[in-house]
Amino acid sequence: GTILVNDQFLDRVNGTVDIEDRGYQFGDGVYEVVRVYGGKMFTAEEHLTRLFESAEKIFLKLPFTLEELTARLEKLMDDNQLDTGIIYLQVTRGASSRQHHFPQEQNAVLTAYTKEVARPVKDMSAGVKAITTPDVRWLRCDIKSLNLLGNLLAKQEAVSKGGFEAILHRDETVTEGSSSNIFIISNNTMYTHPATNLILNGITRREILKHCANIGLQVAERPFTLDELKNADEAFMASTTAEVMPLTSINDELIANGAPGNWTRKLQEAFETGVEKECGA
Ligand code: PLP
Repeated sequence: GTILVNDQFLDRVNGTVDIEDRGYQFGDGVYEVVRVYGGKMFTAEEHLTRLFESAEKIFLKLPFTLEELTARLEKLMDDNQLDTGIIYLQVTRGASSRQHHFPQEQNAVLTAYTKEVARPVKDMSAGVKAITTPDVRWLRCDIKSLNLLGNLLAKQEAVSKGGFEAILHRDETVTEGSSSNIFIISNNTMYTHPATNLILNGITRREILKHCANIGLQVAERPFTLDELKNADEAFMASTTAEVMPLTSINDELIANGAPGNWTRKLQEAFETGVEKECGA
């Protein structure tokens, strides 16, 4: 397929990265994953705005405008005839002789590719299992950084135990998932961690918060505990690729009766309606 390297559209085998690229050596860069439904990007502006915000937080100046980036991604999608899938894009601080401090001349390197990825309809219908594990990451989880080792170790622990997601907690407080945001519903109120430095403010999370008012679900953006999670009426995770994904067991204990809850179902429907409105899919 065709990939994007800065402003060049290349065949994948012709794309190269310097072995001293700071993204490769340090994880010194930021990234996004954008969902594509029926050949149209969903919430592209939100994702790309967040990319610019993440870049600014690490003092990385992006050598293109949001409009230029959007146009390149549109072309990349078209060149690959992408229907339903994702666009992965990342920007690193580029190549320079290895040193921790930033080089005088920053040569940001943008790379992007597309991939067909089906919506996880089976899992969304049945729900998935999760485990809990301590959140050992740093204190700038609001940055969508390429440094994902803390997230990877947690996800690997979940998968090795037959789970779909790892729910992270700092002391008793649930922060987010290893690659998702986490929500509970108790007494007809939805709780999710506020958008602080301890979580990534998910674009899917923001969509969900918008839909709550429409379906008459009360919202409290306040941290909840492991105990509240265990005793919740409903629990779900949310991300660009997993959408609104019901959690039906946590550490092998069933949530409610082990079936996706009614409010979760309503949010799935509302989310899907939002996708149809924007992408006509
Ligand atoms: N939190 C983390 C740590 C993530 O990696 C992700 C996305 O993969 C999310 C939350 C959800 O963000 P979004 O809904 O923008 O995909």
